[in-house]
Amino acid sequence: MRINVSQQLKASIGSIRNYELSQVVDITGGGSMVQGAVNLMRTDRGILVKGTLNTEVEVTCSRCLGLFGCPLALNIEEEYFPTTDVVSGAGLPSPDEPGCFTIDEHHVLDLTEVIRQYTLLAVPMKPLCRQDCAGLCPDCGHNLNHGPCGCLSHRADPRWSKLDRLALASDVSVNKEKGTG
Ligand SMILES: [Zn+2]
Ligand SMILES: [Zn+2]
Repeated sequence: MRINVSQQLKASIGSIRNYELSQVVDITGGGSMVQGAVNLMRTDRGILVKGTLNTEVEVTCSRCLGLFGCPLALNIEEEYFPTTDVVSGAGLPSPDEPGCFTIDEHHVLDLTEVIRQYTLLAVPMKPLCRQDCAGLCPDCGHNLNHGPCGCLSHRADPRWSKLDRLALASDVSVNKEKGTG
């Protein structure tokens, strides 16, 4: 996702250009469609990129381990620094800020690395394919989103057995009352 900013580098500080972007970007080994709009503003030091880009990456559900497309909105705000003077063509000293983004010697501003970094930050730590994902059966590994697996173990869950006994006890007492009445 590359934008030539040579004209804007010659423009006065504060000048803004808008770009509509729609492109497949290689983010995490696979291409992801990235769409949205960004503003590029000429600053005293370089170009400030602001905007929201939408993309979708394939992630693994932390509960059922199924792959699903996770939509992400990337709120980007990064300043890019030129490495070459746009008028004289002379090399510029690299900025002090470590890890900052640069505009290359052809005055091209490349958003790919910013998109990749923002995407990695935006992906949830424990992604869920849906809020009520049923997960996997701990015994047979069946994906319970596709229906019950038939394992008896769920009924033998110790959290439920106490309730079962209570239900059983109340049934018995009801029967007794009926019997005496
Ligand atoms: Zn899931
Ligand atoms: Zn099962």
